[in-house]
Amino acid sequence: MTQPRQIVLVLPPADSCDAPDALLQAAASLARGSTLTVLALAGADSPSIAPRDLPEPAHWWQCQHPALQRLDAASLLPCMQEALQHAVAAAQSLILMPPGPLSEECAALLAARLHGDHLGRCVQLQLTAEGVHAERHAFGGRVALQLDSRSNVCTATWRPAPAATKDAGIAPEIHELQLQAVLPAAVQTSVVESTDRLPPLENARLVVSGGRGMQGETGFALLADIAQQLGASLGGSLPTVDAGWVPVARQIGQSGKFVNPKIYFTVGISGTPQHLAGVSQDSRIIAVNKDPDAPIFQRAQYGVVAEWQNLLPALLQELQAAPV
Ligand SMILES: Cc1cc2nc3c(=O)[nH]c(=O)nc-3n(C[C@H](O)[C@H](O)[C@H](O)COP(=O)(O)OP(=O)(O)OC[C@H]3O[C@@H](n4cnc5c(N)ncnc54)[C@H](O)[C@@H]3O)c2cc1C
Repeated sequence: MTQPRQIVLVLPPADSCDAPDALLQAAASLARGSTLTVLALAGADSPSIAPRDLPEPAHWWQCQHPALQRLDAASLLPCMQEALQHAVAAAQSLILMPPGPLSEECAALLAARLHGDHLGRCVQLQLTAEGVHAERHAFGGRVALQLDSRSNVCTATWRPAPAATKDAGIAPEIHELQLQAVLPAAVQTSVVESTDRLPPLENARLVVSGGRGMQGETGFALLADIAQQLGASLGGSLPTVDAGWVPVARQIGQSGKFVNPKIYFTVGISGTPQHLAGVSQDSRIIAVNKDPDAPIFQRAQYGVVAEWQNLLPALLQELQAAPV
């Protein structure tokens, strides 16, 4: 008889672990009929998630490494790999982590190192006769991807819906593990206060956004003044981030942020699908572009065919003169 796929839940130290309880319950349900393995990592000053009763039998490994208060992927990854070598016995495994940028980075790197598949940030997971079936969202929730993997090792981060009822618990079997992983030298960081005074893109109701057509930092300084007058956030297309005119935290699009403002005011943006993937279908777009055939006009509710140099200075003047 073939061994069932081992469900392994890797929990980073408690101070960086987002909502572990729903994940513990869901991972135990997924492991139904076999045994769940939990690897709870801890540093010298960062405690691990404390063991708790679960609806299915579980092996709970308390994995300690003194350097693990440095919570970055470079430190977590060798510790995770060492802990997995101790705790994973089956030929096939599904390695789960809680959601969050750090876990997502670790899960992807781990899959690459173990020659497995990374399924991404999943909302549903199921074991099938062939392997693992996962569902995840893309493009700000507008596309639901159905993924099937037959790889021996799969990694995923998972934010399951909290269970309606909590099953009676069984105390896990607890193992202690002192990790010996050799970690890379610590990266020296310093905190620099940002001079960016405009509101963030997240939850902004009004976004002013510039593209390559702004032609440089001077154009963006004008856009920033207009955004400030309007109480708006400021965004940019990928080329403007690559050129250093806009910080990366303000990139909108497929590989940037997804925004959902009431009004999206674009200047010098052509309107490629990769850019518009970052703008909600519910947002109303006002576009300024010198090219009447620019694709942005197909999506915009209001369009102005003009060079921004002939429009934005006058707009700023009007806004500055307008009563507050
Ligand atoms: C995998 C992948 C991911 C990507 N992710 C993103 C992403 O997240 N975000 C993103 O934006 N792009 C992304 N891109 C890049 C995307 O394909 C386009 O290259 C990019 O969106 C174009 O940016 P833009 O509109 O600023 O520049 P352009 O396409 O060069 O458009 C500039 C526009 O400015 C207009 N213009 C020029 N001068 C003036 C003027 N004086 N006044 C008014 N208008 C003027 C022009 O008519 C033109 O329409 C991605 C591409 C790939 C392959």
